[in-house]
Amino acid sequence: MSNNLNYKLDEEELRILETNHEEFKKESKKLYLVSLGCSKNLVDSEVMLGKLKDYTVVNEPKIADVIIINTCGFIGAAKEESLEVIFSMHGMRKKDSLLVVAGCLTQRYKEELQLELKEVDLFTGTGDYDKIDEIIKTKKSRFTPTTYLLNDENRVITGSSSHAFLKLSEGCNQNCSFCAIPNFKGKLHSRTLESVVKEVTNLVKKGFYDFSFISQDSSSYGRDLGKKDGLIELIKLVEKIEGIKSARILYLYPSTTSNKLIKTIIDSKLFHNYFDMPIQHISDKMLKLMKRGAGKQRVIEQLTMMRNSKDSFLRTGFIIGHPQESENEFNELLEFVKEFDFDRVSLFAYSDEEETLAYNMCEKVDENEITKRVELIEEVVKIQHRKSLNSEIGKTIQIVIEGESSEGEFFMGAKKLSWTPEIDGEILVNESDVKVLEVGKSYEVKVKELVGDKLLVTVTKTLF
Ligand code: SF4
Repeated sequence: MSNNLNYKLDEEELRILETNHEEFKKESKKLYLVSLGCSKNLVDSEVMLGKLKDYTVVNEPKIADVIIINTCGFIGAAKEESLEVIFSMHGMRKKDSLLVVAGCLTQRYKEELQLELKEVDLFTGTGDYDKIDEIIKTKKSRFTPTTYLLNDENRVITGSSSHAFLKLSEGCNQNCSFCAIPNFKGKLHSRTLESVVKEVTNLVKKGFYDFSFISQDSSSYGRDLGKKDGLIELIKLVEKIEGIKSARILYLYPSTTSNKLIKTIIDSKLFHNYFDMPIQHISDKMLKLMKRGAGKQRVIEQLTMMRNSKDSFLRTGFIIGHPQESENEFNELLEFVKEFDFDRVSLFAYSDEEETLAYNMCEKVDENEITKRVELIEEVVKIQHRKSLNSEIGKTIQIVIEGESSEGEFFMGAKKLSWTPEIDGEILVNESDVKVLEVGKSYEVKVKELVGDKLLVTVTKTLF
């Protein structure tokens, strides 16, 4: 094989490679991985895949030699789902396979789960993702006390050939009343600017051009490194990276999101005016009780600044039914969501989590009442989402083709370039002026109509 970069394999060499690959696939051990929870967990799962390159990743647990479940453990519903997946994987696994459980659920309940879950062979938490190969080889469970934070690992990006999640930090210094995450993920621990920039630069070399920067609290990025405006510094550095075409930041925190940061995002030619800031509530009494660090007036000032920016996209999240939330506070929130145009809203029913401040609060809201309130606000949120999607009709926008759509082979599935994959919705492509549409490529399209909760578009030209 010569070493010039654009060498083309001839048929015989291709055949040998494919045979070798088939041989490798036949001989190599088979791995099935389930990544539950948030995009931060997904990044850790990708680190594990990077460490297990000798395995062939399969999409059938029944044939896997090793099954890994990267669990989520932050609220009741997520914990239930993690346990359900553990039991269902155990039910499907083949004889002599290894069942490995990792992540937040095991980190949070390591003693109990190791005692109770006899179905599981190996346990690890959130401290050893980069040691998963050793854990499997030695068949020893492991719980390193510090939370793992990737630095230079060669992870396997999943789900896209153009987009990657970039983790900025682990842990959190906030003290939200309802949240157990700081208990098992620890204090804020940021990557260095160099480490983040290096990873983005290396991923751009591999063809990725669209990035979502994530953490528990992104607007506090770098504060543990003595940087008050760490995220602003990072934005400035990332903007200089050649080949990066699209970027957004998720998980801004109200009390650490300055007007200067919002303005930096608005002025950026690279970062979309995409603002993801979970505010959790809007009543001053509840925001204080939840220890969110910013009141109603400040939050509305931030949201208005964000909304007034060009092509702005606002995503937020609310917790419904926190202790001491009276009908008045709930109605205040409901009216606010009716009036303020959010593009996407995530709703969480309050989950009573031990070792949180809210757990010891009095005047807990009755479960049925919480369900009733969630249903009420869900109706309003559905109208908001539709309004946001309808506002795209007739526009010319940029999309990225992601593959076959969830509606089947008659449509290609895509996302708006500024959207985060998976969570902001799917766009259906059924007509194109461009002959061949390629997965991972970006195109300009005309938005024709809204079908259910999906936009239908016609491709007009190739962008990149
Ligand atoms: S910002 Fe609040 S909700 Fe988010 S991880 Fe930190 S403590 Fe939990």
